[in-house]
Amino acid sequence: MINSKVLTSSNPCAVFTTLNVEPTYELKLSSRKQTDEDEIINILSQNTTTTYKVYAITINNETKTYVNTLEEAENIVEEMKNEYSEDVATVGILEQYTQNLDDIGTVELATAKASINTDLEEIKEEKEEIEESTFHGVYFSVRPIEGKITSRYGVVESSIRDHAHGGMDIAAPRGTDIKAAADGRVSYSGWMSGYGYLIIIDHGNGVQSYYGHCSKLYAKKGQEVTAGDVIAAVGSTGNSTGNHLHFEIRLNGSSVNPEAYY
Ligand SMILES: [Zn+2]
Repeated sequence: MINSKVLTSSNPCAVFTTLNVEPTYELKLSSRKQTDEDEIINILSQNTTTTYKVYAITINNETKTYVNTLEEAENIVEEMKNEYSEDVATVGILEQYTQNLDDIGTVELATAKASINTDLEEIKEEKEEIEESTFHGVYFSVRPIEGKITSRYGVVESSIRDHAHGGMDIAAPRGTDIKAAADGRVSYSGWMSGYGYLIIIDHGNGVQSYYGHCSKLYAKKGQEVTAGDVIAAVGSTGNSTGNHLHFEIRLNGSSVNPEAYY
């Protein structure tokens, strides 16, 4: 009777109710009293725990929000499948039982949909950003330095060099930290004609990045570096007319325009 009372109540998630105490019965002499079933049920009802069934909406197996019914959950999954391609993220449904409905906090369909949509949009944008900054499988996630671009890739300036510019120049004060643009291993740390003090990082897949005209070299040959690690300091060594970083990306030994990955 308690169960049917709970299940017909206004809460659609309630699935069953259990008694917290085992009722005991005894025969006893007492004054005549009118007692009916409803009264007994009411007393027992005060000592019950109700279990609720809710539906978690997951993104890549991580719970994001809860809705009350399977129909709502399926509606969300269906809509997100139409909106986002499979490689953005996996949206799933997880059936979950709880006795603390208030802690879990299910939300209305529209609210759940909006929040899942926001999460997926963020994941999609992040993935696009990573894709745009990835060159032959190497993710250039960090700008080696911030500063004004003073010379771009491919520029010919006969007064400075006798060939087209193989990288990009970014001006910054002497001593400014230069960071590794992507994960890799330092394959060169020393003086090189034209470049002055130079760091070369090998990123695998035939991809290398060059950091030239440094005033100081911090990273040593053979050292593993993570994007963002400080590897050198800005200077004006080698064929240089002022403090700047010469940033270069090479694929199988040939320079490419690094600007899209800066
Ligand atoms: Zn340069």
